[in-house]
Amino acid sequence: MLKTDILVIGAGPAGLSAAAYSARAGYSVIAIDQLSPGGQLLLIDEIENYPGLPLTNGYKLAEELEKQATAFGAQVEFTALESIKKEGEGKFIAKTDSDEIEAKAVIIATGADHRHLGAKGEEENQGKGVSYCATCDGPFFKGKNVVVVGGGDTALTDAIYLSKITKSVTLVHRRTEFRAQKALQEKLYRCENIRTELGHNVIEIISDGKKVIGAKLEDGRVLDTDAVFIFVGIIPNSNLFKDFVELDKNGFIIANGKMETSVSGVFVAGDVRDTPFRQVTTATADGAIAAHSADEYISNLK
Ligand code: NAP
Repeated sequence: MLKTDILVIGAGPAGLSAAAYSARAGYSVIAIDQLSPGGQLLLIDEIENYPGLPLTNGYKLAEELEKQATAFGAQVEFTALESIKKEGEGKFIAKTDSDEIEAKAVIIATGADHRHLGAKGEEENQGKGVSYCATCDGPFFKGKNVVVVGGGDTALTDAIYLSKITKSVTLVHRRTEFRAQKALQEKLYRCENIRTELGHNVIEIISDGKKVIGAKLEDGRVLDTDAVFIFVGIIPNSNLFKDFVELDKNGFIIANGKMETSVSGVFVAGDVRDTPFRQVTTATADGAIAAHSADEYISNLK
């Protein structure tokens, strides 16, 4: 059994920030993740709105965040959480696929995953032209025509990114107004090879058996395309915590401004939290607040 003051679950920007702040405050910290540290940062090509860093890329920022956390003494472990329980104030037991960890306080920073569209042909054509990651799969469609689905920040950011690699991008969004930030909308409309189909849904993804060849809209039209990139929102990674802390109706973890969840000693940070705005900046800020609150909680233990 490993013992630590603070267990951070998830090593994306929120978790790594929480780990860095906690370790810097003198606590022993174990941050666990079932994937490489960085979370969704690893999927982002350009980041231009992280304060103080005019332009960086997600992979580089993830690396720097991990380096900073470990330099302060945090331990980042590649392992998956299986279960977690509270045995009393200041005593939490987590089971992972490799060990058991006892911690005085817990910070949940497990982030969120891509939502699927639910279109016919979507599941069977993953890897054959259906993708949820522009930076991972965009380069395979150099000089080709692609469809992007969605109207939020991710859809617009990634449509812009894809327009630099591909011949053309058709952005399909179910409403006639975008949800994305105005700055991104303005940038999108400056890209000459992006066309929009507003007020439409992709209901089927058509393939020739080997690869995607079209996206069918609800009005019957088929857009010829080599790929369909789907960015229709996120689903919180909170399944393991549904009987542990209170979740909202969409599965996001409810917390107050101090990142305190419904269970004392358990804090939350980043995209898995019920929050109106999800950015790398807000994730790292959540991590700092959660670390501060965990410090307060441990200091008050008898
Ligand atoms: P989001 O903001 O929830 O947007 C999801 C989009 O998908 C919406 O436009 C939504 O349409 C559409 N959608 C949802 N379900 C659909 C369905 N079944 N069929 C068709 N369309 C559907 O998700 P996101 O863009 O992934 O962003 C997630 C969070 O990350 C946000 O808080 C965002 O601000 C943040 N983020 C920030 C940046 C940045 O700052 N550069 C970049 C990426 C993400 P409606 O609009 O009609 O609901």
